[in-house]
Amino acid sequence: MILITGATGHLGKATLKFLTAANPQLKTAALVRNPDKAGDLAATGAELRKGDYDDYASLSEAFAGVDTLFFVSSNDVHSRRTQQANVVKAAKEAGVKHIIYTSFQRRTEDGTSPVAFIADAHIETEKQIKASGIPYTILKNALYLDLLPAIIGETLPEGRPLALPAGNGKTSFALREDMAEAAARILAGSGHENKTYEIAGTVSLSFDDIARILQEITGRPVTYTDTTPEAYTEAAGRAGVPAEASAFWAAFLTAVKQGEFDFPGTELKNLLGREPVSAKTYLQSVYAPAKA
Ligand code: NAP
Repeated sequence: MILITGATGHLGKATLKFLTAANPQLKTAALVRNPDKAGDLAATGAELRKGDYDDYASLSEAFAGVDTLFFVSSNDVHSRRTQQANVVKAAKEAGVKHIIYTSFQRRTEDGTSPVAFIADAHIETEKQIKASGIPYTILKNALYLDLLPAIIGETLPEGRPLALPAGNGKTSFALREDMAEAAARILAGSGHENKTYEIAGTVSLSFDDIARILQEITGRPVTYTDTTPEAYTEAAGRAGVPAEASAFWAAFLTAVKQGEFDFPGTELKNLLGREPVSAKTYLQSVYAPAKA
């Protein structure tokens, strides 16, 4: 039995769909904390199990009979240390034989990263999984390509450069759907125990590169300029972006500048058996759909 957590979310749901479509014979289950959000999950053939990372007893019950656990990291940055410790403990208690954990790429592990508030819980959970003795696969997921519209804006700036505090930092973005497909291949495959994969694109891109791609696909002038985090959050505030959101993105973009997410490689490509979707293809689908 393979149980997928976060199954009502983007990555978990896409992974479940890839897995069940390609391997309908597999016994699967989906963890949902709110069955009202299950939507079309039952159509995949997965058994729905109710569980909440905050509720240890619910996890113990939900993990009964599970051999392989696809553990999607929590999106609650404030509580996820405790939540994720609950998941690992419940998995151990239930006799889970393999945990596949969706972690995060990072260069700095000493707590000084601008995104330590994100990275530290992942680092701690990886250690807990390894200490549990349960065979593991760690998926160090790149920054989602899908985040770019939130960073750049749904509409491109006109008559001014894209001003972000990302310097010339490069990021090995990958599309969430590709990550899900690769995860499904791991779940249905063998030989992935006690391995860590960089789930990332084959190339790294700076925001200069992204501006060039945007110019090419839209035929409009698009340029990028580095700015300070302060100027970036000020401008975002003037545009009506809440302070908490702009501080969040400023931290991410400062981390980009430091090369925190610059790990291009072929592990995602090899898992997929094809080139991952490129930034150009993805950006075309968002900013120039007629040409995609
Ligand atoms: P998502 O769409 O927000 O999905 C998160 C999933 O976690 C949802 O199914 C959510 O359930 C579930 N969840 C949250 N708290 C839970 C709890 N207490 N108990 C049980 N389930 C809980 O996120 P995603 O896009 O699929 O990404 C997966 C994970 O990757 C995120 O959770 C986050 O840790 C991380 N992430 C990575 C990047 C990146 O760039 N690499 C970007 C964003 C996030 P509900 O539907 O009930 O809320």
